[in-house]
Amino acid sequence: MLITKLIDEGVVERLRKLGIADWDSSKAEVTAYREKLLDAQSWQCAYCRRPIHRDELGFRELDHVLPKSQSPAKAKNFDLNKARSNLRKDRRHTQGFAEFTYIPENLVIACKRCNSHKGAYDGLADRTLKPVAYPSKSDDFEWINLHFDIPSDYLEVLPGFIYTPVAGSEKAKAVIHACGLDKSEELKARALDQIVFSNASLATSMLEAVFNREKFSDHDIAVKLDEKYGGIGVDTLESCVATARDAASCMEKLGAALIDIAERISRAAPVSRQAPIPGELRATFAT
Ligand SMILES: [Zn+2]
Repeated sequence: MLITKLIDEGVVERLRKLGIADWDSSKAEVTAYREKLLDAQSWQCAYCRRPIHRDELGFRELDHVLPKSQSPAKAKNFDLNKARSNLRKDRRHTQGFAEFTYIPENLVIACKRCNSHKGAYDGLADRTLKPVAYPSKSDDFEWINLHFDIPSDYLEVLPGFIYTPVAGSEKAKAVIHACGLDKSEELKARALDQIVFSNASLATSMLEAVFNREKFSDHDIAVKLDEKYGGIGVDTLESCVATARDAASCMEKLGAALIDIAERISRAAPVSRQAPIPGELRATFAT
C-alpha cells in the first residue's frame, strides 16, 4: 500500500498548511508527520529498506525527495544547463524546490547513510521545466517516491541486502547509484551498523561482529561500538575486540582439532569401539 494512505489525513493536512517557508524540523506539524511516517514505513529506510533502529536524528532523517535547496558545494559553481539536464551524472546540480519544503508527498524517512549519499540528488523525471505544482504521479519521478511507488515493484532486496533492479528498472538504478548501494565497502559499513545497533548488548554486538563472514577490522568494530556506547574509548574497545577475536580463533582451532581426532579414531578403532566423540559435537564444528 502507498504510505500516504496509511497516515492520518489531519496530520497530513496540517503539514501541508505550513505552505512555503524555511525548513524547521522542530515544528509540531513536522514532528507529528514524521512519527506517522515512521510507522507507515514500518520503520524501514525509504531507499535501502534497512531497519531504522531509533526515532532520533542520525538514525532516521526526513528526506526531501525533491531537494529543498541546491547543495552548498554545487552552488559555488552553479550551472543552469546541468540543473536542467536529465543525465544521472548531472542530477546533483539542482535549482532546488523550496516551494515543496512542506509538501507531505515530498517527505520520506531515510537512514542517515542513504540521506547523506543522496544529498541534493534531484529525481524529477523531466528537469527541463520546473513544475508549477508538486508532481502527482510515479512517472513524474526518475526516482522511487514511496508516496507514488511500491518500492518492491522496482527494487528487489535479496538476502544479505543485495540490491537488484526489477526488470532493469531505471528508478531502482537511480536509487542504487545515488545511495551507494552498489559499493561493497558501503554495504559492509551498513552491515556493521546493523549488527551493532540491532543487538541489545555490547558483548553480543562484539561477538557477532567478530564472527561475521564480512571480516570487519577490529578498529572498525571498535569505532562503531564507541558510537553506540560512548565513554569507553576506541582504544579500550579495540583491545577488547582483539581479545574476543583471539578467543574466536581458539574456538575454531578447537573445532578443527575435535573433527581431526574423531576422524583419526574412526579410522583406527573397530566399529564396536567407535564414537568416543559424540556425533552431535562433531556436527556442531563441521559447519
Ligand atoms: Zn537507507
